[in-house]
Amino acid sequence: MTAGAQAGLMELRRSLAGEVLAPTDDGYEQARLCFNLLIDRRPAAIARCASASDVATALAFAQAEGLEVAVRGGGHNPAGHCAVDGGLVIDLTRLRGVEVDANAGIAHSEAGATWLDFDAATQAHGLVTPGGVVGSTGVAGLTLGGGIGHLTAQYGLTCDNLVGAELVTPGGEIVHASVKENPELLWGLRGGGGNFGVAMRLDFGLHPLERVVGGLLEYSGAGVREALRTLRDVDRGARRDLSCEAQLKLDESLVPILQVVPCYTGSAADPDELRALRSAPGLVNDLVHSQTFLDQQRVFDPGYGVDRNYWKGHFVRELPDELIDELLDRMVGLGRPPGAILIESLRGGPKDVDPATAALGYRYAAFNVSVMASWLDPALDEEHIAWARETAAAIEPWSVSGGYANYMQADEPLERVRAAFGEESFDRLRALKARYDPNNILHRNQNIPPPA
Ligand SMILES: Cc1cc2nc3c(=O)[nH]c(=O)nc-3n(C[C@H](O)[C@H](O)[C@H](O)COP(=O)(O)OP(=O)(O)OC[C@H]3O[C@@H](n4cnc5c(N)ncnc54)[C@H](O)[C@@H]3O)c2cc1C
Repeated sequence: MTAGAQAGLMELRRSLAGEVLAPTDDGYEQARLCFNLLIDRRPAAIARCASASDVATALAFAQAEGLEVAVRGGGHNPAGHCAVDGGLVIDLTRLRGVEVDANAGIAHSEAGATWLDFDAATQAHGLVTPGGVVGSTGVAGLTLGGGIGHLTAQYGLTCDNLVGAELVTPGGEIVHASVKENPELLWGLRGGGGNFGVAMRLDFGLHPLERVVGGLLEYSGAGVREALRTLRDVDRGARRDLSCEAQLKLDESLVPILQVVPCYTGSAADPDELRALRSAPGLVNDLVHSQTFLDQQRVFDPGYGVDRNYWKGHFVRELPDELIDELLDRMVGLGRPPGAILIESLRGGPKDVDPATAALGYRYAAFNVSVMASWLDPALDEEHIAWARETAAAIEPWSVSGGYANYMQADEPLERVRAAFGEESFDRLRALKARYDPNNILHRNQNIPPPA
């Protein structure tokens, strides 16, 4: 940073209600860390904003000093978009309040709230919005890319439940989005990512829910192929009150395992779908039982910043036997744990919603299939990245609607981002970009460039 920029940084420290962390400050090393250790970036400064006015000041500072901007919510984006070498991070982690208006059935979530913050606040009223499955993930980052989780079949994608937002644009303007005010912006925020401004507040519709039948079913060895087929068949015919996710993995002795994570919210004591899943071959662990929704949200609970990750996947229109065989072969071909292939169902809720209400274009897919390479040793980077890329390429013949923006690495070409929306929606998003961020200041994301 130049001497002028250093002086500017001192000015920034003075003008923010929040704090600014520079490389020599205590806490900087922890604050620059992403969930994904493959990303190792050193920002010039991290502005821990305490208000919309702080965010506007930080955005203006970055533009005046010619610094690249990164926006950090929960820090989970696998592409590491929340960190930038030599640039300014707008860090929202101080802004984690969630206010619930139980009578109106609306939750107002601050810019940097996580799902743990959100679920704790809404569950205190016995209410819920379908969010992510890991508590430390950012509410805003996940919602703006779509949002798939334990309640997708019941209540749709997270962004389908987004009813309002307040943003600070790179120009320092405060804009609101709802069905009444700037409805085109609300449409764009439902899938279009952090392209249009920093969301200071997101408003969500809520649903009553306290307990679920959920947890984990684990299958091992020769039965895994049949168990995955059973999951596919059960999912195809299931009712709206059952969401399902599954992960293919290898255990320490390189035997394939399948973990199925159902979330049932109906009233049947012994629902047919769960009975069918329990009678599939290879079941070695049955941890499915009645529990609170908060406990369901802890079924997946990875540590933060502990491993290296490279994810790549496709939405698929179906999960035929040939694709199941391919996934299993590829999983075994990895040759060592960890690493997984995640299969998320998009049945039910996402298809009930009028597609014209959201920018994203993948709600018609049957499943999101994501290859998730994760490892510890940097010497294995090339090998694991190659496995993820080759496995994703093997899934491609069944793909529809591009890939899931929330799981994309930074090396995805623009065409894949465009395909996740479709031509017409992508053009509308570019027009929104021209309106709210014409200079593409917010480009460290799955970027929607303004029209040339
Ligand atoms: C362990 C793990 C579990 C996950 N689970 C799920 C899941 O269950 N379902 C699912 O759909 N996805 C899931 N994801 C993916 C996740 O939704 C995306 O990676 C999302 O971008 C993470 O948001 P974040 O705020 O945590 O990340 P960050 O890296 O902090 O932010 C990512 C990007 O989001 C944008 N952003 C964040 N906050 C704001 C804001 N307030 N205003 C404007 N833009 C903002 C910015 O462009 C930012 O660069 C998971 C990821 C991980 C690593």
